[in-house]
Amino acid sequence: MTSTHAFWLAGRQATGETAFDVTSPWDGRTVGTVSVPTDAQIEEAVSAAHAVREDFAATPAHVRAAALDHVSRQLAERTEEIARLISAENGKPMKWARGEVGRAVSVFRFASEEARRFNGGEAQRLDTDAGGQGRLAVTRRFPKGVVLGIAPFNFPLNLCAHKIAPAIAAGVPIILKPAPATPLSGLLLGELLAGTDLPAGSWSILPVPNDRMPALVQDERLPVISFTGSEQVGYAIMDSVPRKHCTLELGGNGAAVVLADWASEEDLDRAAQRIATFSNYQGGQSCISVQRVIADASVYDRLLPRIVAAVEAQVTGDPADDATDVGPLVSEAAAQRVEAWVQEAVDAGATLLTGGKRDGASYAPTVLTDVPAGVTISCEEVFGPVLTVQKVDGEAEAFAAVNDSKYGLQAGVFTHDLQTAFRAHRALEVGGVVIGDVPSYRADQMPYGGAKQSGVGREGVRFAMDDYTYERVMVLTGL
Ligand code: NAD
Repeated sequence: MTSTHAFWLAGRQATGETAFDVTSPWDGRTVGTVSVPTDAQIEEAVSAAHAVREDFAATPAHVRAAALDHVSRQLAERTEEIARLISAENGKPMKWARGEVGRAVSVFRFASEEARRFNGGEAQRLDTDAGGQGRLAVTRRFPKGVVLGIAPFNFPLNLCAHKIAPAIAAGVPIILKPAPATPLSGLLLGELLAGTDLPAGSWSILPVPNDRMPALVQDERLPVISFTGSEQVGYAIMDSVPRKHCTLELGGNGAAVVLADWASEEDLDRAAQRIATFSNYQGGQSCISVQRVIADASVYDRLLPRIVAAVEAQVTGDPADDATDVGPLVSEAAAQRVEAWVQEAVDAGATLLTGGKRDGASYAPTVLTDVPAGVTISCEEVFGPVLTVQKVDGEAEAFAAVNDSKYGLQAGVFTHDLQTAFRAHRALEVGGVVIGDVPSYRADQMPYGGAKQSGVGREGVRFAMDDYTYERVMVLTGL
C-alpha cells in the first residue's frame, strides 16, 4: 500500500482527480502513486505565478537566500532517506544516489550565495563620448517572466534543483515539471520549500502528463522554457514556440580521448578505471557518460584489456545494495533499445569484447570495438552501459574523431601536456573539455551546456539566473 503523493500548486499541497503509479525499474514494485493536476489547477498555478512576478522580484535577497539555505540544509540532513527515494524510483545505485543528493545540497547552497550577490547592478559613465556628457548608465537584471522548467528522469532530484534554485535566487517564479518516470524526488523538493517564507505562487511543482504539456508550452504567460531531456523533445518544443526564450540541455555521446603521452602503467590504469566507471555509472544514463573511447595507436593495445577488465569488475545488481555499481535502466523498453543497437552494430561487423546481455531492464556493461561508422550506436546517444573503443593516429585525428558527431556536450582528454590541453580547448566543438579525466565531470556552479545538437544556452546556477533574466539599462541625465 502506498499513499498518493500530492503535487505543489502555488506553494501548497493539492490533489487532482486522477493519479498514476511510479514503479521501480529493478523489481516493478509500486514506489508511489502521484496525483495529476486538472486543467483548472494548472491554470491556477500559472496565473498565481504570473500575478506574483513583481512581489517575488521585490522579495529581499536575504529572504530568498534563507529559503535556499533551508532547503540545502534539509537535503543534507535527509540524505539517506532521499537517496533511497531516488534509488527506488530511478533504479540508481545507492552510492550514486547519495552523490546526487550531495550535489543538490550544493546547488541550493550556491543559489543562496548567488542570491546574496545577484543584481547589484553596474554603473557605466557615458561621457567617454561627447554625446554622453552628463549622463550615467545604470544596468540591472530583471526577470523575463515566469519560467517553465522541464526535467528528465536521470537525475530526478538534482536536475529539478538546477531549474528551481536559480529561479528562487533570481526572484523569478517557476512552474517545475518533473519526469513522469521519476516525479517523487522533484515533488519532495516541494516539502522542503513549503517550510520557507517564499511568496505563494512563486513556485509550483506539477506532474503534468506529456500529452497535456503542449498547452503549457504555448502559454504566453510562461516566456522562458528551461528544458533538460532528449534532443527530439527539446527541439520539438523550441520549434513550436520560436519566439520564446528556450534553453535546451540535451543529449551527448561523450568521448574520452587517451593521447600518446598518457602512457605509464599508472596512467593507463587510471584512465581505464575512470572510463569503466563513467560509462556505466547510472547504467550509462547520464548525458555526459563515456560512450566513445578514442585512443592513440601507441597506447591502444595496453589500454583496451585494462578497460575490459575494469568494465567486467563493475558490480551489477540491486540498486538498493551499497556494493552495486550498475543497476537497471529506467525501463525494460530502454534496455531493449540498447540491446537492439548493440545487435545492429555486431551484425554490421563490430567486435563484442564483453557484455551484450539483457535481463529485463538490466543491461550488462558492454565494450565494442571495430564499430562501423554508419550504425546507430556510432551516431546516436546510447544512454546505456555501452562503450565503443576506437584507435586513432595522433592528436589531430583524435580531435577530428571527437568532432565527428552531431553532438557536442563534453569531452575528456587524458594528457599531461598543457599545450595539448589548450589545443584541445580550441579544437573540440563541445560545451566543456575536461583535461586529465573523463567527460563526465560536472561541477554544479560552472557553465554547463552543449554545442551543436547537444543544446542551446547554459545552466550552472549563476548562468541559469542570467538565462531567466535580462539586462535593463537606466540612463541618468544632467549629472
Ligand atoms: P525526454 O525528452 O523524454 O523527457 C524530458 C522531459 O520532457 C520529461 O519531463 C518529459 O515528461 C517532458 N516531455 C515529454 N514530452 C513533452 C512535450 N511534448 N512537451 C513538453 N515536455 C515534454 O528525456 P528523458 O528520457 O527524461 O531524459 C533523457 C535525456 O535527457 C537524454 O537525452 C539525456 O542526454 C538528456 N539529458 C541532458 C542533460 C543535460 O544537461 N544536457 C542532463 C540530463 C539528461
